[in-house]
Amino acid sequence: MSKPDTNKRRNFMLSSLRFAAMGLFGSMVFGTVRKNKRLIRENKCVNRGICGNCRIFSDCSLPQALSAKDVLEKT
Ligand code: SF4
Repeated sequence: MSKPDTNKRRNFMLSSLRFAAMGLFGSMVFGTVRKNKRLIRENKCVNRGICGNCRIFSDCSLPQALSAKDVLEKT
């Protein structure tokens, strides 16, 4: 008799945890994207100065990127 209630409660708890995890993950992604956009707008580095694997390297005009492009052109 109490088995269906327990399953309902368990499913509700699992669904709640799943939605909470998705919300947390979504807010983390949103925060990261927002921070990167702000840094780009303020002309600041978004990848701690490691230009080698930076996704905006080709469009970046910060001194580190220009120096790295210079080195790459010479080699
Ligand atoms: S390309 Fe280099 S300088 Fe430009 S944001 Fe990326 S890591 Fe920073």
